[in-house]
Amino acid sequence: MKTPRMEVDLYKIRHNARTLVGRLASLGISVSGVTKSVCGHPDIARAMLDGGVVGLADARINNVQRLRCAGITAPIAMIRTPMMGQVEQVVRTCNTSYNTERSVILSLATAAVRQHTVHNIILMVEMGDMRDGIRPEETADIARQIVSMKGLALRGIGANFACLNNSPPTGANMIALSSLADEVEGKCGPLVDVVSGGNSASLPWAFAARPKGRVNNLRIGEAILLGVEPISGDQIDGLYTDAFSFVAEIIEKKLKPESVTLTSPSLAGLRLARQSEPTEHLILAIGQQDTDTLGLSMPLGVKYVGATSDHLVLQMARPTQDVGRELKFRLNYSALMRAMAAPDITIKLLNQAPRPKVNPPKHSHPNLALV
Ligand SMILES: *Cc1c(COP(=O)(O)O)cnc(C)c1O
Repeated sequence: MKTPRMEVDLYKIRHNARTLVGRLASLGISVSGVTKSVCGHPDIARAMLDGGVVGLADARINNVQRLRCAGITAPIAMIRTPMMGQVEQVVRTCNTSYNTERSVILSLATAAVRQHTVHNIILMVEMGDMRDGIRPEETADIARQIVSMKGLALRGIGANFACLNNSPPTGANMIALSSLADEVEGKCGPLVDVVSGGNSASLPWAFAARPKGRVNNLRIGEAILLGVEPISGDQIDGLYTDAFSFVAEIIEKKLKPESVTLTSPSLAGLRLARQSEPTEHLILAIGQQDTDTLGLSMPLGVKYVGATSDHLVLQMARPTQDVGRELKFRLNYSALMRAMAAPDITIKLLNQAPRPKVNPPKHSHPNLALV
């Protein structure tokens, strides 16, 4: 089988999505499945949809295009504020976009009118992560502007937590977001349907026994895909953490000491003088171009020595596999994201759901092929 490759167990992704969707549904919170770390891979997106997510969300228009080209008709939200040059495409392919800039919102409205459609806007509010977001005190004013524009519908508000800084949302943050929803409604009339309270890092807040206020949606990628809570890295109860395995091939196996000096400058007598006991070193045919090598979790007895663009060097506690054999790793979010975007990685899907059966038309002649 080809290496390097990513093995993706779609059953485990369906299970993780279904489990989170179920737990959050009982708290009145829906889940949008975030596909950006898998570059909008359509089969992985379908596994999320099969698990019950209400829609998909991605940060890049090319990923959305890929989902649409694969025939996915589910609602898709653009969760990064659109680039000016992409507003036409955003309106064409996404039902909703998250926005923070008046000028972009205006362009989206123009594009929507031109395309004879209505585009949904969710206003992203700065709640302390200091990445994207409008200042809370400006929100109601921008919301009022959106409500007055042709081509747009105000769908709700949202916030980011633990993206740029590493602090998860507090109960107070969520209460503030909820009151902002009330304020926006008070000032512009229409119901604020969606109050989107962040990403996988908001799960501990959601599962804690606290009032949820008006927060009724989370945008979840990492927890569905990797089964972990991003800040602690801990496994979430009942979820698979091994839906993805990264497989690479051993291309060199040698006994080598930690470091060496050359004994003789003349080539004929050249030797490596050990400065420590030699141990088995392996080189795998992957490198920084393929993934974040520091994000691979080393199996027991394997020590990470280092990586260059195309080589990963490992030290083995015991003699192991030969050249030509494979090693398998679990990975963190950063390693997953880079591997899924790397051109040399083959993706192998496991446990694909059977495609729904298409019944032949009732009156067709059995011997006639439809053209
Ligand atoms: C990436 C992203 C998410 C999903 O984050 P996970 O940690 O993968 O759950 C949600 N919202 C926004 C705006 C994002 O950029």
